[in-house]
Amino acid sequence: MKGKIVVLKFGGSSVADNEKLKIVANKVIGYKKEYKNVVVILSAQGKTTDRLIGEAMELSKNPDKRETAMLISTGEQVSIAKLAILLDEMNVPAISLTGWQAGIRSSIANKCAIIENIDVSRIEQELKDDKIVIVAGFQGVNAKNDISTLGRGGSDTTAVAVAAALDADKCYIFSDVDGVYTADPNKIKEAKKLQNISYKEMIEISNEGAKVLHDRSIKIGEKFDVPIVTKSTFSEKEGTCLSKNIEENTVKSVVKKDVTKISIIGEGIMRNTKLIEKIINIIESEEVEVLRIEILDSKISVIFKEIVTDSIWQKFHEVSI
Ligand code: ASP
Ligand code: MG
Repeated sequence: MKGKIVVLKFGGSSVADNEKLKIVANKVIGYKKEYKNVVVILSAQGKTTDRLIGEAMELSKNPDKRETAMLISTGEQVSIAKLAILLDEMNVPAISLTGWQAGIRSSIANKCAIIENIDVSRIEQELKDDKIVIVAGFQGVNAKNDISTLGRGGSDTTAVAVAAALDADKCYIFSDVDGVYTADPNKIKEAKKLQNISYKEMIEISNEGAKVLHDRSIKIGEKFDVPIVTKSTFSEKEGTCLSKNIEENTVKSVVKKDVTKISIIGEGIMRNTKLIEKIINIIESEEVEVLRIEILDSKISVIFKEIVTDSIWQKFHEVSI
């Protein structure tokens, strides 16, 4: 492809209503000034997917998987068509494409299908015609030509896979959070936003339950080295960049999963004996009972015998970051 390519993905809360769609449209137009080629991936509006699943469950306790994929994939089709209508109204050439129109071929599963390959010829053709291409997230088409869905949160995966297939310069994931933090900022007030994080660290954070990105999207990002940036739709603040970039011995995040597990994540953390010592000191001075400590290359997890308070989390955060 000639010229720079950017992929912009907007989550459900970013496209929840017409006002928000207008914000998204203006953002997209802004990026078009900077990049010759702009591809947009959208989620369904607001809680549409939940609502559609609920409606299927009202009809059947165990709704047929093929038909459920057929039903819930409509959510994304609504948002892409609306954004295309809006951009057209603003005199900006754009076209919306469903998963199959965009060439997204998936495994046979209806529910948690895997993207197997992307035939980008249609996307590239539309980009050559100078259109903004808006692709439905979360869906593909399988070998039977049935619509498949990629698992909840799967639009992130569509975005990163499309970015990899187009060899895009950047893949922005816009949502209502402005990046990845050193801990949950709602619980730990000292938590800071990270400028950079590696794919590996992000996978560990995600394994510990902090769902900033769909797991599979991070793995595709790592495999194809896609520069991913997570950013807020509603502020100009800098986001967090994901890349291979390995910074040994720097702790990136302290995550509390459920009530008995705290994990400290950072590439090569296993070799940070000083930190391990500090953590043991906290455990001893706080007199909390520990069931076990798991030490992996990029993660140390402490599993407590009892429910641990957020103040211990805060202390772990303090000594780590
Ligand atoms: N709309 C789908 C979901 O709610 C996919 C996504 O938003 O990424 O899970
Ligand atoms: Mg999501």
